[in-house]
Amino acid sequence: TATTTTTLPSVSFGAARRVPAGLKQRGRRVVVTGGAGFVGSHLVDKLLARGDSVIVIDNFFTGRKENLVHHFGDPRFELIRHDVVEPILLEVDQIYHLACPASPVHYKYNPIKTIISFSAYKTNVMGTLNMLGLAKRIGARFLLTSTSEVYGDPLEHPQKETYWGHVNPIGVRSCYDEGKRTAETLTMDYHRGADVEVRIARIFNTYGPRMCLDDGRVVSNFVAQALRRQPMTVYGDGKQTRSFQYVSDLVDGLVALMESDQIGPFNLGNPGEFTMLELAEVVKETVDPGATIEFKDNTADDPHMRKPDITKAKELLNWEPKVSLRKGLPLMVTDFRKRILDEEK
Ligand code: NAD
Ligand code: UDP
Ligand code: UDP
Repeated sequence: TATTTTTLPSVSFGAARRVPAGLKQRGRRVVVTGGAGFVGSHLVDKLLARGDSVIVIDNFFTGRKENLVHHFGDPRFELIRHDVVEPILLEVDQIYHLACPASPVHYKYNPIKTIISFSAYKTNVMGTLNMLGLAKRIGARFLLTSTSEVYGDPLEHPQKETYWGHVNPIGVRSCYDEGKRTAETLTMDYHRGADVEVRIARIFNTYGPRMCLDDGRVVSNFVAQALRRQPMTVYGDGKQTRSFQYVSDLVDGLVALMESDQIGPFNLGNPGEFTMLELAEVVKETVDPGATIEFKDNTADDPHMRKPDITKAKELLNWEPKVSLRKGLPLMVTDFRKRILDEEK
């Protein structure tokens, strides 16, 4: 491929250079940052399947090579170990920017949590800046995976894209929430100020195969606990709500957004809303009728409810999720069961 992959120190890279039209005709060249992670690896599968050449940039902070191993040897696939906090030189047509320590256990409860939370903030700010600088220089289209966390503990329900959010700027989650809010700001500034073609997706809670087994998110926790015959840990009274989207729906939405002429932001989520107690019940039905629950103290600033209003994505992207929680959960359970058995071997 015509790709250069040199990592450079912080220097100025000169004026924007559009990719010659001839190169584009050979199929798209796409970068996926965070492509070794849960969502990223499913996105890579879809892009390669439709004929794109894909470069993954990942520092393996929470991602794993196992998620991509089935593409090793494919000449259209390339994996670069790189931290997006550092600048990079590449020549591509599209950048899907997913790199971010995304699960709460990695930015909240980790024993070295100050370092980790700083890393989440730094990745969101400096990583996004570098990817936008790259997009500007090469004239690539840039898509940011933002989050429903930008709405904080919302006072509007369900949340529309027009809602500005209710975020504690100094709380334990703020490295993530405020990091993504800043990433959105940078994205729009590069669009307005440097004419970069940008797209913003606000992703709501997503689950599916390849999630980290122990990353602390609720669906992965409950499923792994039920499979290991441990009680499912419900934080607080379990009456808080979330809306759970299956990963293939999200990936379809991300690609639809990238290919559209819309900037966004767009909520990408499944409006099916569940309390954590209801979720535990669905996991119990799916995994083990004998599964039990155990209550634990909730964490600070936990949003009380969350549900996307997806009217905008339906109208402008012609996208809506297809997989209900009861359909999607068994697909994740199959993957988790296999990985937990492998672990126990
Ligand atoms: P994940 O942790 O599985 O994937 C993130 C990937 O980014 C990992 O492979 C990790 O190694 C990589 N990474 C982290 N910091 C990096 C850095 N500095 N340089 C290079 N690579 C780095 O998480 P995910 O669930 O796949 O999330 C993907 C994106 O979607 C994230 O931006 C996240 O904020 C967003 N998102 C996810 C959800 C969800 O429910 N899964 C919800 C909202 C938003
Ligand atoms: N950058 C990069 N690759 C490129 C172009 C830029 O990593 O191909 C980084 C660059 O190091 C800088 C950031 O993106 O830190 C923002 O770049 P921009 O040109 O917008 O800002 P400047 O370099 O003028 O501060
Ligand atoms: N939660 C829970 N048990 C767990 C992990 C999480 O009850 O083992 C709760 C958590 O308090 C929150 C909800 O599940 O109310 C979703 O948490 P998660 O970390 O998955 O996502 P986020 O808070 O980012 O939406």
